[in-house]
Amino acid sequence: MGAYEALYRKWRPQSFEDIVAQPHITRTVRNQIMRGKTAHAYLFTGSRGTGKTTCARIFAKAVNCLNPKNGDPCLECEICRDAEAGTLTDIIEIDGASNNGVDEVRNLRENASFLPVRCKYKVFIIDEVHMMSAGAFNALLKMIEEPPEYVKFVFATTEIHKVPATILSRCQRFDFRRILPADIAGRIRYIAEHEQFTVSEAAAHRIAVLSDGGMRDALSLLDQCAAISDAVELETVEEAVGVAGTESVFLILRAATEKNASAALERIDLLYQQSKDMTRFADEISQQLRNLMLLKTAPDDASLLDIMPEELEQLKAIAALYSLPGIISALSAVRQCCDRMTRAGNRRMELEMTIIRLCADQQQQSGDIKALTNRIAALEQQLAAIQANGVPVQQAAPPKRRQPAPAKNVPTQNLQVDAKTDEKQFVAVKNWAAVLERFFDINPAVAGLLNNSSAYIYAEKNILLVCVRNMLFRRLFKQTDAVMLLDAAEQILGTRYQLRYKVLEQEADQTAPAEILMQRAQSDGIRTGIQEDAGV
Ligand SMILES: [Zn+2]
Repeated sequence: MGAYEALYRKWRPQSFEDIVAQPHITRTVRNQIMRGKTAHAYLFTGSRGTGKTTCARIFAKAVNCLNPKNGDPCLECEICRDAEAGTLTDIIEIDGASNNGVDEVRNLRENASFLPVRCKYKVFIIDEVHMMSAGAFNALLKMIEEPPEYVKFVFATTEIHKVPATILSRCQRFDFRRILPADIAGRIRYIAEHEQFTVSEAAAHRIAVLSDGGMRDALSLLDQCAAISDAVELETVEEAVGVAGTESVFLILRAATEKNASAALERIDLLYQQSKDMTRFADEISQQLRNLMLLKTAPDDASLLDIMPEELEQLKAIAALYSLPGIISALSAVRQCCDRMTRAGNRRMELEMTIIRLCADQQQQSGDIKALTNRIAALEQQLAAIQANGVPVQQAAPPKRRQPAPAKNVPTQNLQVDAKTDEKQFVAVKNWAAVLERFFDINPAVAGLLNNSSAYIYAEKNILLVCVRNMLFRRLFKQTDAVMLLDAAEQILGTRYQLRYKVLEQEADQTAPAEILMQRAQSDGIRTGIQEDAGV
């Protein structure tokens, strides 16, 4: 028995016909080969694992094959066999990342000046071509401007924007698409049929989704799973990758609508103890929120969802608990969390804060809907009365004012302003609600922290004082949020202020939902990263 060969090498497609996922490219290239009208330079672009290098190698074989079949290499002639063995000097593969200097390109030019030894064409395949230096690109440009008849170039890149326009304009460009999860799953099942292991449908689908459209990543992951077990199940995949599993994601999403931060934090603690990857978990939550959003927008079209049929029913039940704005605001908060997690030191804490915020926001959303429903009911009552009596009647209950009236004594004690500052200098901002609305548009994730807030302007010092009624404000409101708030204020009020804030004591009935949940979670004895790491 020979050395173990990685699945992605062993099962690399050998012909254009094998490449199922890029028909728009393989069809065109095969036609060109059949008609003998190939270009002298190609540029293959697309994300990793989408088949660029594989296509380039098949192309090199196909143009030189002694008995090509419908534009595909025969795989049997001496040229095909030697190309496969890597012993054909006329097919030259270069890694642009490690051969990126002017000297390397000069060597290449010298090589290109000699006729091919055994083949019809000399084919240069340059991978990661965007890594070349400016000087190397210039030397390359001279080569592809007037290439000898017998030379073909295939460039491959994941970063097309780094390739100079002068090169782009001289190449025929093909864009490789991400491979659909269904196509990857199909390939995995096909490979398993010919290997010494089995893969369940759910496991194949999970691998496909996790590999994000890249076949190479998918097959590497399959390798990893097959090393754990001969019968690859969903659990095998989750163990191999350290992902939490859909069950945990659904639990968190349900907990958010039930305002059950305790249950959510408990699960995060459990996953943390099991050494699950917190960043990946946040990513999974955001993927399912995306599914919820699509389900809410187009309930009858499940084809857009990356999900197994069994999970679809559960997801539909969860979707019924959410409003569309609630989903979008949650998705935005989790995406921001993912961003911060890539930079921040304490990923667990970032995730916990976001989950608590999610629980609070969903409560807020359902509260708003309740208020709206009451308001509609009152209006309907009024309308019925008008129709019956022909005269308008007094509204049963006036709608609650969004904003509390400006306090008589503006609290300024924590301000970094002159001790002499006269409190009377602060003037209440009348259209603060409009500023908050604008802020909600640009930063919905933290806008909820400013519910029931009021604001004052000290014109002489150019200060905007915001009085906040949410105890989590200090912890969750970041510098970047402050800049966005000032942007919103500038758009509505026409002036760029300096921001000062004060967190007011809570009145019993106005305690922020997030704070209640936080306290409840902590009094339930649930460990949170916030407690441990922020020294609270
Ligand atoms: Zn051949």
